Amino acid sequence: MPSIYVDHAATTPMSPAAFKAISSQMQVLGNPSSLHTHGRSTRKSLEDAREAIARQVNCLPSEVIFTASGTEANNIALKGLFWQGKAQGKNIVVISAIEHHAILDPAQWLADHEGAQLITVDVTADGVIDLNSLEKIINKHRNEIAVISVMHANNETGTLQPISEVVALAGQIPVHTDAVQSFKKTPLSFADLGVYAMTLSAHKIGGPLGIGALILRRAVEIPALLHGGGQEREIRSGTLNAPSIVAFAAAAEDNYPRESVIALRDEFISIVEKLFPDVIVNGKNAERLPGIVNITFPGTQSDTLLLLLDSAQVSASTGSACSAGVHEASHVLLAMGHTEESAQSSLRFSFGSTSTKADLDFIVSVLPDVIMRGRAANLK
Ligand code: PLP
Repeated sequence: MPSIYVDHAATTPMSPAAFKAISSQMQVLGNPSSLHTHGRSTRKSLEDAREAIARQVNCLPSEVIFTASGTEANNIALKGLFWQGKAQGKNIVVISAIEHHAILDPAQWLADHEGAQLITVDVTADGVIDLNSLEKIINKHRNEIAVISVMHANNETGTLQPISEVVALAGQIPVHTDAVQSFKKTPLSFADLGVYAMTLSAHKIGGPLGIGALILRRAVEIPALLHGGGQEREIRSGTLNAPSIVAFAAAAEDNYPRESVIALRDEFISIVEKLFPDVIVNGKNAERLPGIVNITFPGTQSDTLLLLLDSAQVSASTGSACSAGVHEASHVLLAMGHTEESAQSSLRFSFGSTSTKADLDFIVSVLPDVIMRGRAANLK
């Protein structure tokens, strides 16, 4: 029986180029901060990697700050920009209602521990930030807002967010965008977006787990979360993880097969809509990433569907968080107007660069039985 992976938005296989890069760099001795030949040689590979990543997102190499994850980059950006604003008497943090927990939770922490006032902006039924609401908030609080953080694309539904419009409304207010899901999947230019800060993560693009980057405008200096050796503009101390960084750059230089991923996704949607006319494809009318499909199957429980799919050798996802093994209703789908019940009947299928037509054929061959059994289990 084949084993099918449609959870590329959670993590995607390491690309051959990234694997080659990490394997060879792991055999190289040298702390990139050391001044001797070993250290300088590692530093050279690392700076080449920094330049490669900078080219891919259209920023300066000095604007790339390596971190141990997208989560860390989000925390540095949100907390750092908040603290910088707070020093000027600004205490409002504005985020969208559909942010990843790596923004939601630090924002809540700032409210609970640092005196931040948190304002959450609604989204439309298609999962796109409501720019009218944002405009009203900005007009009312312009001089009190320390930071605005809106993701570039949502990880559960794939909907793209109008970041340039957010930046235009924000004016002088610093804007951060979490572009973890967008990088390589859709055009992404730090310089053109005009944001202050942007988050990337290697393992979503075929790089290793546990390496990310914060792209931070050169002129912006923010307080550090980690203090120590003063690496990365003294914003993120810690010996740099050279093997993972060179592999991150190799993955960033890989070609993403955008058109074929879009074709697979669209074929999948049209087959599923034919098989089950009552499904809802969440965010279908919005501009979306190529690979992510979020579908509500009325009359089912997503946990049951996941287990049934898993026993049919298909790895999919609910896309939302689990707390103590219990699947919570997705805050993203709730923000888009779903009830708890319909939010809990939704699955995310995410295709990636290794996905094939054979994967799709297999999934749609097992889906009717999975949905039928899922519905039957839900009636009990
Ligand atoms: N932001 C988004 C939108 C994500 O999808 C993820 C990962 O799921 C993260 C942040 C966290 O990135 P990392 O896994 O590198 O901590």
